[in-house]
Amino acid sequence: MKSKIYEAKFITADPKWKGRAPLFKREFKARGGLIRATLDITALGVYEATINGKRVGDFIMAPGWTSYNKRLPYQTYDITDLIKKGNNGIVVGVGSGWYGSYVGFGGIYPLGDHPALVMAITLEYADGCEYILSDESFKVAKSETIESTIYNGEVTDARVKPRFASSARLFKGKKPPLYAFDGVPVREIERVSAKEIIITPRGELVIDFGQNLTGYPEFTVNCRGGEKLLITCAEILDKDGNFYNENYRSAKSLINYTAREGVQTYKPHYTFFGFRYLQLVGFPEGIKKEDFTAIVVHSDIERAGYFKSGHAKLNKLYENVIWGQRGNFLDVPTDCPQRDERLGWTGDAQVFCRTAMLNYNCDKFFRKWLRDLALDQCEDGGVPRVIPDTSPATPEMTVENLGRRHSAAWGDAATICPWEHYMAYGDEKFLKECFPSMKKWVEFIEKYSDNYAWTVGFHYGDWLALDNAEDIKGLTEHPLIATAFFYHSAELVVKAGRILKKDVTHFEEILPKIKAAFHERFIKDGRLTSDTQTAHVLAIHFGLCEGELREKLARRLVELIEERGDALTTGFVGTPYLLDTLTEIGRPDKAYSLLLREKFPSWLFSVNMGATTIWEHWDGINDKGEIWQKSMNSFNHYAYGSVAAWFYRTICGIRYDESAPAYKHFFLTPTPCKELGCAKAKINTPSGEIISEWCYEADGGIRYSFTIPNGATATLTLGGESVELKAGKYTKFCK
Ligand code: BGC
Repeated sequence: MKSKIYEAKFITADPKWKGRAPLFKREFKARGGLIRATLDITALGVYEATINGKRVGDFIMAPGWTSYNKRLPYQTYDITDLIKKGNNGIVVGVGSGWYGSYVGFGGIYPLGDHPALVMAITLEYADGCEYILSDESFKVAKSETIESTIYNGEVTDARVKPRFASSARLFKGKKPPLYAFDGVPVREIERVSAKEIIITPRGELVIDFGQNLTGYPEFTVNCRGGEKLLITCAEILDKDGNFYNENYRSAKSLINYTAREGVQTYKPHYTFFGFRYLQLVGFPEGIKKEDFTAIVVHSDIERAGYFKSGHAKLNKLYENVIWGQRGNFLDVPTDCPQRDERLGWTGDAQVFCRTAMLNYNCDKFFRKWLRDLALDQCEDGGVPRVIPDTSPATPEMTVENLGRRHSAAWGDAATICPWEHYMAYGDEKFLKECFPSMKKWVEFIEKYSDNYAWTVGFHYGDWLALDNAEDIKGLTEHPLIATAFFYHSAELVVKAGRILKKDVTHFEEILPKIKAAFHERFIKDGRLTSDTQTAHVLAIHFGLCEGELREKLARRLVELIEERGDALTTGFVGTPYLLDTLTEIGRPDKAYSLLLREKFPSWLFSVNMGATTIWEHWDGINDKGEIWQKSMNSFNHYAYGSVAAWFYRTICGIRYDESAPAYKHFFLTPTPCKELGCAKAKINTPSGEIISEWCYEADGGIRYSFTIPNGATATLTLGGESVELKAGKYTKFCK
């Protein structure tokens, strides 16, 4: 049955209340003999509903973030237990959320400057249903939330006592089509106790939670009415131990709280922060760390993968990757959770999606986001840099004038994410749903390519690579990167199309042409025109070279690493494939040496510097404790955390088989390393739980154990020999 919410009206408060979160209230009666009661509800903004004073459901930041001008999800809650016979009341607060906050660039968001609510209660009795639909009969009141935005936080006056004196008004703005929510609810997942209270050298009162995380603080204080309490957030302390949050840029990330009289507990309602440290101003004397808790908030995705080795720092890095994912999976896969971005950056999602799907079950999570990607994709196939698109293209922006920002390796999220989703979950129907968007992206590139080389347009390049001191976009030529990704994406369209039995002749035909263009433009005298690690990684990993040329480029890649003293220089584009490429060319030893390197630049450098999440920059803080710069320096960016896929796939060797997705058949090719001593990976896949483990024994031999779940078979390769394994548990010893 179609939800009654489709018949309900979008209601709003007095536009003069701008920014202030309204409370909507409706009283209603319930008869005896109620069988079931449900609430269908959504908002332009973020809502929090209570019935008879009790919170409905546990969805935080509901209804979540979609491309609001295209579609808006509504949630359905069973509220039977909250309803009593006789008089009842529902009160719904609506904060600005992503809809009404400034989010993104150029000031195009917010979509609306006052929030709106739409909802329907269904009371089901033996003799039929009764409905309460939002309309002008709802009353409104000003809440204690004076302002609440995504970047700036919340301003609250706890002394406010809501007075429902006026009636709701009909919302006149654009109403997006509604759909029943099918994503993953955002919830309060964990409560982290404060580690310590610090007085910094500058005299600031700071609480340390010991973990960089995403969510909000909760505090209990005993105050005089009217006392002003301020809390600001930070991810790090500076080298002198002082509170530092210049890297939040314009995001104030502030709790501005005016207390009421007495003991009170507060946590924000309509916003979230990224933080490890909180600075407290105006708090009464004698507060204790026990008065503060950090509440971790993210999409309630189910954990799927685990990894542990005998190397403590590597384990810490892995934990940081997990926290990076938790911190950036708040309904949308974001670049970072703290500064004035927190956006669904396509490149970051593309880079991290494989790892994400190994760590957690992200089936529904990516489904939702990829649907928004397809909705926001331009007519000609261009993929906006962020999804939901916060700054849609205008007619005067063209690809040629670099205005549209459909960057290579960012827009390729349209092909790579659906492909990885299919590999992880094997849902052909969803692959089919994504196929038009995948195809359109490649057609877009083809349209703007010059004889199959993609040479025009705006690109982010090898973002944050270390090989160009002059430019954060790295040294690798953008057309080289763009053409390599053109090839890769066209190949994914061919693979997906063959599975779906679509006619992909055209894409099959362009593949050799793109490869030829790549050779013609970017290979001179057997050398790549960009003599960078990333260029070599792309040429090898994407299959753009074969035979002797491949061997030559492979040797050069190793030289480039050695010339840097066995260190990487890759950015967002090269890093996710670097260790894989070294493994593919038969140099897992080099991959291990990069992975276990502790000096800058390396993954473990940040671990040694005390990181608890993944940094945006290899040198977010350098070895002298100096901070890279304030303009773009997040300490919770998951992109480089993509390395954890290599832990599952190479260290423990569990790899999906493209011809039998969802691990119905998979490969087991573990790559032991003495320095690690032992390693174990466990992945909960749709085919069951896979375990791969190895350990060096005292005599120098290696003991392997594997679990092949009931729904699967595997090909195990050890010492160059392969055997087929059926479901079961296996142990092997090798000298
Ligand atoms: C974001 C990135 C993103 C990039 C585009 C940054 O400001 O934080 O992670 O991919 O812009 O290059």
